[in-house]
Amino acid sequence: MSPVIPIRAETSGCTDVVPLVERGQREVFCGLTGIIWLHRKIQDAFFLVVGSRTCAHLIQSAAGVMIFAEPRFGTAIIDERDLAGLADVHEELDRVVSQLLARRPDIRLLFLVGSCPSEVIKLDLSRAAERQNQIHHPRVRVLNYSGSGIETTFTQGEDACLAAMVPSLPTSTDTAPALMVVGTLADVVEDQLRSLLERMGLQVSFFPPRHSQALPVVGPNTRFLLAQPFLADTARALQSRGAQHLAATFPLGVEGTTAWLQAAATEFGVAPNVFEQATSAPRQRAQKALAVQRQQLQGQRIFFFPDSQLEIPLARFVHRELGMALVEVGTPYLHRQHMAAELALLPMGTRISEGQDVDLQLDRCIADAPDLVVCGLGLANPLEAQGITTKWAIELVFTPIQGYEQAADLAGLFSRPLKRRIKLAA
Ligand code: SF4
Repeated sequence: MSPVIPIRAETSGCTDVVPLVERGQREVFCGLTGIIWLHRKIQDAFFLVVGSRTCAHLIQSAAGVMIFAEPRFGTAIIDERDLAGLADVHEELDRVVSQLLARRPDIRLLFLVGSCPSEVIKLDLSRAAERQNQIHHPRVRVLNYSGSGIETTFTQGEDACLAAMVPSLPTSTDTAPALMVVGTLADVVEDQLRSLLERMGLQVSFFPPRHSQALPVVGPNTRFLLAQPFLADTARALQSRGAQHLAATFPLGVEGTTAWLQAAATEFGVAPNVFEQATSAPRQRAQKALAVQRQQLQGQRIFFFPDSQLEIPLARFVHRELGMALVEVGTPYLHRQHMAAELALLPMGTRISEGQDVDLQLDRCIADAPDLVVCGLGLANPLEAQGITTKWAIELVFTPIQGYEQAADLAGLFSRPLKRRIKLAA
């Protein structure tokens, strides 16, 4: 029995789509934003941004709600003045790190996070991390990556962070295939997915781990599923350690989650009846919950600006499971290999754009007059002022949305702004 009952019959797909490629001005957050969810995930890590006052403000205001908890991020501010002596900057950084680690013995993994001001770009943070490692290893491991906003989008911060961790993963000595799920997930989602996979008899490791001392092993026996669509560099780094990527849709919505689990089940030879037993109850619950949301969203026209790299899987979900019409699906980058299963499920002829020329895209959007626009914070206000209902893309990254139990919550993120608009108009 097929575990998936597609709601739409249009499956000829967008596999060979030629996207509308734009390379103009972009409106996106930078990779520092990833610290906001990464610091919650890896509970003994600290993210020290080496940046300007702008970086400090971004990270403080974007993560403002979290600093009531014991903070696990901070900013070492470098400015023009420091350029006078680069040696001093390195010494200053060493001093800041030593002070931090002396004050915070709970930190076991320290990331030096680069940013884009020219003063910082001139610093060699990999050398700084190496030097720090010599001083503080084995108590603390020090790694570095860039969260720079030049030519990157905000979810690439996670990609850069995880790719920087890959070389420190222990080498697997096993030959039996082992499953790894890659990409930051809320703990509750991780627990649900682990439980589903275990019900099929599969053991799974998650990367990143919740603690830096519990790094998963990797080697030629590793088979990995991506839980997030923005991890191209991390996937490449894992493949360079011999791991094999399992091609699948992403675990968004009932259909995406089922196909994602099925990719693991197929690879590990799980019997169809075992798969069915493990997934049927949560799948049916999720389908029932989605049916309610579908009544609200069916036929509504949606436009995605390129922002999180989640756009294509989300478009597949809202179209196939909620009946929404896709006006344009923008993505910062189109990774054809990782998106192959998703593209195949989009209706043929979908307007897919890659990159951004924000003015041209805004003109298209306003001319199309969609019912709902998914976009960055900077575009939401001007669009709302034009009477267009918006959803902030960043909320879709902060909210637990993967898996069966979250499918209706994910749909709710799209229906809520529309309900709000109706109430305001009443
Ligand atoms: S990394 Fe660059 S884009 Fe991000 S806050 Fe700092 S200066 Fe701004």
